[in-house]
Amino acid sequence: MSTPKSPQAASRLFPRLGFALLIMIAIIGYLGYAMKTDRNRGDQAGSDEKSSERPGPEPLPVVNAIAYSPERAPRLSSRMRDWKGLIRVDVTPAKLESSLSIEKGCVVSRFTSTGDRVETIRDRSMSNASPKIENGGLFLDATDVRYGGDVASKSTLDTPLGRAESLLEITPREDGTIWVGEHCYRGSLRLLLVDGKIRMVNVVGLEDYIASVVDSEMPATFSQRGRQAQAIVARSYALYHLLTAPREAVSDVNDTTRHQRYLGYQYRGKDGRKFAGETKSGRAIADSTQGIICVHRGDVLLTYFSACCGGTNNRLPEMYRDFSSAYHRQKDPFCRDAPVYHWVETVSQERFLEELRRAEPKRNWGAVFQGIQRSGSGESGSFEVELTPGRRQSISAERLQRLFSLRSSFLDVEARDGAIIFKGEGHGHSVGLCQWGANLAGQQGKSAEEILDFYYDDIELMRLPEQGE
Ligand SMILES: [Zn+2]
Repeated sequence: MSTPKSPQAASRLFPRLGFALLIMIAIIGYLGYAMKTDRNRGDQAGSDEKSSERPGPEPLPVVNAIAYSPERAPRLSSRMRDWKGLIRVDVTPAKLESSLSIEKGCVVSRFTSTGDRVETIRDRSMSNASPKIENGGLFLDATDVRYGGDVASKSTLDTPLGRAESLLEITPREDGTIWVGEHCYRGSLRLLLVDGKIRMVNVVGLEDYIASVVDSEMPATFSQRGRQAQAIVARSYALYHLLTAPREAVSDVNDTTRHQRYLGYQYRGKDGRKFAGETKSGRAIADSTQGIICVHRGDVLLTYFSACCGGTNNRLPEMYRDFSSAYHRQKDPFCRDAPVYHWVETVSQERFLEELRRAEPKRNWGAVFQGIQRSGSGESGSFEVELTPGRRQSISAERLQRLFSLRSSFLDVEARDGAIIFKGEGHGHSVGLCQWGANLAGQQGKSAEEILDFYYDDIELMRLPEQGE
């Protein structure tokens, strides 16, 4: 006969059960938090997770585009047949002695200048290498060479992998990536000798490239619609350069703001910390606009863009001469709240003259600053620096922008209280899409199509066929 538990016993038991339950809840809660934090961390600092995982509960806005047709984009169609969906990005780092590191081994092949594969030099055996020029040829000094995937051999240190008069291509195994100095890339890496110097060219899928450009060009805090517009603009810009690259060119675009910024898949900051060059959000933006480009009157549009137009768009008609029907000067109502809409920079009059003397020593800038006035017409204009009374030297706004690292050349200059005060508008050349304007227009609910329609005239969005279609 079982004796019922006394109320006291039950009350002794419940706290224990309650305590155990609390611990369980705490553990489950912690696990959930840890998983979530890992996901976030992956987003911020690069993640090895498969890119097929899509983040965020909110679906990205749909961008409508017409299907690709040769009749509507004739210039593209001639190159479409043999295009493999790849783009060649010049990533030659500032330090040419940069070492390479390959995570999962690779295949190294040698090509002729006409692009024919000559031989495979190494197969799945190299994880570190540094390219060198010796006796006019291109060499790779490889370390950590593995034979059969298991034995690391020190004896192969400084053993040249081979001499290539023209081109070596390193293709990582499986989904591996290549570190070139402080940047890590998807795709393969070409090493070339051009005019006696080593050039490094990342051959990468256009969509992989776009995912990184979106993040390299626009912060993740910018509106999704603005970032979608940026992705379409970046894709059109890249494709235009791919279509118009001279036959002998070894790359289509470079990775600087001269073309568009491209940090790669991951990169290391100055303090050695790793960052994502391509976040999950950037990848989702690329996916949601996959293959979409701007077509203007049958041609892929050269879609210029700049950080902030400062309230007036397309001020430099000489930049878009070939596409004048796609651009026209207009007021931009969207970027008004951008932090770089209007700006002020001040330097002392002594430093101002010092800088002019240093940059252009042959001109007489005088010993003491006398004054400065605007002269000449044009959007940027120029200024006259007064020397001794009656004598002047002229300097353009563009020159002032470069000398004093100013955000734009749309500026005015004032001399007051021993200082030179630059007052300017916007950041960059002001032509095409205004990145701050696109961000804020997206926040106001404008779609990517509406944003692009505002910044470029007479365009249609066209979706390229997927590779293999
Ligand atoms: Zn603007």
